[in-house]
Amino acid sequence: MNKALKIVVVAGLIVSVAAIMLLKQRGKGTDAVQGLSTPAVAAAPTTSGLPRLVDLGADKCVPCKMMAPILEELKEQYKGRLDVAFLDVWKNPNVSKQYGIQVIPTQIFYDAAGKERFRHEGFFSKDDILAKWKELGVDLSSDAPQTPAFEQLAPAKPDERPKESICYLCDGDIKSKTLVTIQTDKGPVRLCSPHCYSIMYSCLTEDKTGFEKKVTVTDWATGRPVTLSEAAFLYGEDEATGKPWIKAFGGRDAAVAERTAGGGSVLALDALQRKEFSNRCGFCDRACYPQDAAEVIVEGGVHTWGCCSHCALGVAARTGKNIEVREKDRLTKQQIVVRTLDGKVASLEPSTAVAWFGQRQKPDGTWASAGCFHQGFFTSADNLKKWVEQNPYETGRLISISQALADKMKLSPEQIQKACKIGECAPK
Ligand SMILES: [Zn+2]
Ligand SMILES: [Zn+2]
Repeated sequence: MNKALKIVVVAGLIVSVAAIMLLKQRGKGTDAVQGLSTPAVAAAPTTSGLPRLVDLGADKCVPCKMMAPILEELKEQYKGRLDVAFLDVWKNPNVSKQYGIQVIPTQIFYDAAGKERFRHEGFFSKDDILAKWKELGVDLSSDAPQTPAFEQLAPAKPDERPKESICYLCDGDIKSKTLVTIQTDKGPVRLCSPHCYSIMYSCLTEDKTGFEKKVTVTDWATGRPVTLSEAAFLYGEDEATGKPWIKAFGGRDAAVAERTAGGGSVLALDALQRKEFSNRCGFCDRACYPQDAAEVIVEGGVHTWGCCSHCALGVAARTGKNIEVREKDRLTKQQIVVRTLDGKVASLEPSTAVAWFGQRQKPDGTWASAGCFHQGFFTSADNLKKWVEQNPYETGRLISISQALADKMKLSPEQIQKACKIGECAPK
């Protein structure tokens, strides 16, 4: 009866299906894999009269560790309606036999009467767990604290800024010293800065030959327009944040004179563009500054950026890999960390974090994304609401970060291929 359990890793950690470990039973002299058909020993699962979720795992197995924050959340969120228990099978070797499991983690679902209704092997996301309870007819939702509903479908105050003072790309105010203008068939398109121009240029789908000739920048010294290809640039970085700044000049001499006063490096257009295009969004390929972007670490350790929080989640869809997103609350700059597993949110820090899905109503009445400048994560719904109050032109809705990820995961490969490459950012 005193059979020691030996644990053998059979699956690579976190492959497409969650990593799974097989519990192997050591027989007398020979190793024999415990048959999958071995009936589970009926464990007395509940004394509370509540439905009960038992997760069997170990504190050092990767998918088990990813279950831990989910169990904590369920415990907290469904207090009084669901019992949640974690049992460590490595520390308590009898447990795996008692529950008849072969794999960790395994989750066992018991109804309020103590009857086992379902068991699942491997990582199981919070959404999937909740969906399974629903499918089993166990209602946990009654007066459950849902993601608080919040939306702002019309701007809190009308945007009365003259159209020519609004950046075509970011909707920010255009300052006369950094204005960039692009001539199009339908008239001039105005951007707030050389950086907004770089962003737009990086996602143009049309033939870019000779495009620079249609573009003028503003001479920082005189305020006069200068053809982009003839401009010289002074490029510097903010001392505290390292975020680049760019001043354009009609000629190199003027740039050198300003450098004497304010520092920076004088760059020709080619050199400036190499800097501007060196960091790109891992989802939509836009040029971005790390200081404005969400950091994304793809499974295996590859670092990239999301030009916005939603694009950052999109890297999971684009690469088909698990990712970690480190983004800042748009109001408080506090850090938010999202880890994904198999296209689902595996952990969220803080667990109260939510997403703002900036949307605009199209003339036909349907709602479309308002673009990358209008998306964001917040550590709480309250922070999000405060930010919306401070940004009265924003329209959109609060969604869960799981929903934001699901919106990206459901994109077809063709849609991902075209992400922000559909020409919608081109000047028109
Ligand atoms: Zn702009
Ligand atoms: Zn992007």
